[in-house]
This record gives sequence, C-alpha cells and structure tokens, in this order.
Amino acid sequence: MEQEAICNFPQGHVLFREGDAADTAYIIESGTIAITTEQKGEQQLLSELGPGEILGEMALIDDKNRTATATCASACRLKVIHRDTLVQRIEAADPIIRHLLQLTLQRYRHQMASQSPSSVKIQHNAAASRAHEALEKLNLEVDLRQALDEGQLQCVYQPIQDLVRGRIAGFEALTRWQHPQLGAINPEAFINLAEETDLIVPIGLHNLRQACHDLKAFQARVNDTELFMSINVSGRQLHHPGFSQQVLEIVQAEGVHPRRIKLEITENLVLDFDRVQNWIQESKAHGFRISLDDFGTGYSGLGLLCQLDLNTLKIDKSFVQAMFDSRCEAVVLETMVHLGLGLELDIIAEGVETEAHENHLRALGVQFGQGYLYARPLGREEILSNLF
Ligand code: C2E
Ligand code: CA
Ligand code: CA
Repeated sequence: MEQEAICNFPQGHVLFREGDAADTAYIIESGTIAITTEQKGEQQLLSELGPGEILGEMALIDDKNRTATATCASACRLKVIHRDTLVQRIEAADPIIRHLLQLTLQRYRHQMASQSPSSVKIQHNAAASRAHEALEKLNLEVDLRQALDEGQLQCVYQPIQDLVRGRIAGFEALTRWQHPQLGAINPEAFINLAEETDLIVPIGLHNLRQACHDLKAFQARVNDTELFMSINVSGRQLHHPGFSQQVLEIVQAEGVHPRRIKLEITENLVLDFDRVQNWIQESKAHGFRISLDDFGTGYSGLGLLCQLDLNTLKIDKSFVQAMFDSRCEAVVLETMVHLGLGLELDIIAEGVETEAHENHLRALGVQFGQGYLYARPLGREEILSNLF
C-alpha cells in the first residue's frame, strides 16, 4: 500500500481489532466508524467517528497493540496513513514541537487510562474540529505536492527601485499558487505549509530556476547585466544537506552570475547563528550576496549584525508605513538606516506606497525602495511589455 492513500471500505469491514499490532492510522473522509471494546464477552460501543476524525494514531506512536476494535458502520472513504509516514513526520518536526507532542501524548494516555468510556466519547467530539482542520491541511499538502509537479506554482516579480538613479535596480521573486479549484492561495499560508513539510526545498529550487531564467530575459530586454534578483530562503532550506551546492548549480546552469542573486534570509533565522553564519560564508564564497529581510521585526541582537557578513538590510514595511504616524517609529526607522549606512550595507526599504515615503527615505540616505508606488508583484510578460 502507498504511504498515504485514499481507500474505500464496505459497511461491516473491520479495520482493526483490539489486541492487533498497529501499522496504520486513518482519517475519515466520509462514512462512520464504530469504536468498540470487549467487556464481559460483548462488544461495547465506545464512540462513533465521522468525517474529519482520525483513528488508530495512538497505537502507531506509542508502539502498543490496538486498544479497541474499529468497524465501518457504513461504507467509508478513508485516508490511510502508514506508520512510517507518521514516524518520519514526527522525527522531522522541530525539536520543540516534537517534545511538546510527546508530552501531550503522555498526558493524553494518562487521562485515557483513568476515564470512563462516556467521557472518552466527549473528548472524541472535541477533537473532531481539530481533526477537520488537520484533514484540510493534509489535503492542501497533497495538492501542493501536485501543484509543484504540474507547474501550478509561478513566480511573480516585484521591482526594487534605485531611489537615487530613478530606475529599476532589481526584482524580488515571490511565489504564487493558482489552485485549480480554490483559486489563488494566500502566499503566507502555503509558504508556511511548505516550510512545515519540507516541500519548501523543491519549491525553492523550482523558483530559483524560473527566477534566473526570467532575470536573463529582463537583463537582455534593457541590456543591463547589473539587474539583480532577490530570492527568499527559509530556515528549512538551510537545514537541507547540499542546499548551497544545489543553488550554485542552478544559477550556473541558467547562465546567471551569482553576484546578481541576492539571497534573503529573515532576522529570526539568525537565532540559529552557527548554521546561518556557515551558510553565509559558503554562499558568499560562491559569489552570492546576502540580504537580511524584515529587519526590525525579529529578535536578533544588534551585535549579530557585526558578526554576520551581510550585504543588504531590508527594512520591514511596517516601519515605512508608520513613519508619518508615530514619532517613535520615525526615530526607529532613522536609527536603523544610520546603523545600516554605518555598517556600509545597502538598504532596501519595503512597503513604499507614496511619494512622501520615497522623498523621506531618499533624504535619510536610503538608496533602494520596494513597494506599490513602483509596482505590485508582476508576471514575467507584464514586466517585459510594460515596465522597461
Ligand atoms: P516578504 O519577503 O516580506 O515579501 C514582501 C511581501 O510584501 C510580499 O507579499 C509583497 O507582495 C508585499 N508588499 C510589497 N510591497 C508592498 C507594499 O507597498 N505594501 C504592502 N502592504 N505590501 C507590500 P507576498 O507576496 O504575499 O509574500 C508574503 C511572504 O511570503 C513574503 O514576505 C515571503 O516571506 C514569503 N514568500 C513569498 N514567496 C516565497 C518563496 O518563493 N520562498 C520563500 N521562502 N518565501 C516566500
Ligand atoms: Ca523577502
Ligand atoms: Ca520582507
């Protein structure tokens, strides 16, 4: 059987019996499952589970035999999840999440051991809405895998303006997903899902390839080989063995100079300091430039700026958008700009929406701006025909 498969079962089919060894969990897409246990030689109904609910997962995690029998009370359509998949997911989880999960499981087992069958049923009902959310997420994950294979993911590009020269200096590549049934999916939502599931690794490489390819076309269009492309890099990608080498190979295969690629990491990633520092050194040795994204919103100490060999600070849009509303935000913005200039970094201000923003930023000494004043993220063809 595949590791995750959708299967149909007839009414009366016994999925597992009390005492069986466990190797699968099930999520109910449709139908009803009766959970029973043997008491005094008779099967007692513990609960009935319906669409969105999960069953059989506990035995997989704690390696125990089934503690109840599960029978299809009607014809059922189930997502069958093999133990290896579940174990791999838990192993791959962030160590804090893994630890919390293990603690939660221990408490849950402890509670189950001391409760009557009727209170177990109430708990099952309370878990149903959470299970429904989990099911939706799992479905979206299956769709995202398919989206990558079927080319539903596209890069759009937002120009980065040189405020001093008054022309486009480069672009940031941003991913869009047009789901065949659900339409455009919010980028933050599917990027987070991709990060949780490691799909961000193949998605990131796919984007990089597309962005390099399109950068060549933009450079050729204006005969300017200095145009650069910013690429977002997430923490999961840095953890992936061979990531730096794969990035280098793609950029070289597409015929783009690594100096024209800016790799953007967010401030919070810097908390994993040693890994990030090694990755920056390796990437810079390959010729890439490194940008610190969403600066001002994370938790890194300012001292880290001295130890990381960055090229660019990207000031988060929240500071630009609040600079005329609050004296405090204006001072923080000014201080960040002075800090960046003092460290001889390029500065890109995000979220530039008005000419007043632009004029003020230019007066502060910011060289680059990105935001709706110049353009929203646009597709390759829109850029080639309208922007230059
Ligand atoms: P980000 O890297 O901070 O990207 C900038 C976001 O700000 C984009 O949202 C962009 O559309 C939006 N934006 C740009 N100018 C303005 C403006 O003037 N005003 C306002 N209000 N917003 C503006 P988007 O495309 O929704 O992307 C959201 C986030 O998703 C990105 O934030 C980035 O963290 C992540 N992301 C997008 N594509 C990728 C990708 O391919 N890989 C990775 N790892 N992350 C990605
Ligand atoms: Ca970014
Ligand atoms: Ca940003």
